[in-house]
Amino acid sequence: ARELDGLGALVRAVPDYPTPGVTFRDITPLLADAVAFNGAVDSLADLVAHHGPVDTVAGMEARGFVLGAALAVRLGVGFVPLRKAGKLPPPVESVTYDLEYGSATLEVRTGTVSPGSRVLIVDDVLATGGTAAAAVSLVGACGGDVVGAAFLLELDGLGGRDALSGLVVDSLLTVG
Ligand code: IMP
Repeated sequence: ARELDGLGALVRAVPDYPTPGVTFRDITPLLADAVAFNGAVDSLADLVAHHGPVDTVAGMEARGFVLGAALAVRLGVGFVPLRKAGKLPPPVESVTYDLEYGSATLEVRTGTVSPGSRVLIVDDVLATGGTAAAAVSLVGACGGDVVGAAFLLELDGLGGRDALSGLVVDSLLTVG
């Protein structure tokens, strides 16, 4: 199997995207590589094994769907998509959260998170943690027991872990 260093080499740093001064981390080369994608999902499964049994993986639109669904299959559990506003037919639960400029909303189909179920939140990238914090509160509002959050890539120094204080956070790769 490829080493984690090899995985990191398949994450492309794109300077000044989407705005000047921001370095965007593009994980699509990693997803497109069969060995890397499979290895990343295997490694994520190992990384979250300390939680013990998980009932459901919840992933955020859009790249959280790719990694979250793959991890759910690997763990043998169901997957719940947390979607952007207006994509799911009613009935939905929703949470609105602040962005640097403006706000965003995440929605989940009512009833897809069973009360008391052990839910793992999964996304591709942890940056400021705003999206993941919203996911935690949405799943919690449905009565789910959020056991932790797992990410392919953590952007260090943006305060993501602090925004998720009290939650167990696992990241496969970290960049400064
Ligand atoms: P946060 O809410 O600031 O933690 O941003 C995380 C969300 O934005 C995740 O859903 C990511 O998919 C996305 N995101 C933020 N920065 C990047 C990046 O550099 N590459 C890919 N996705 C990113």
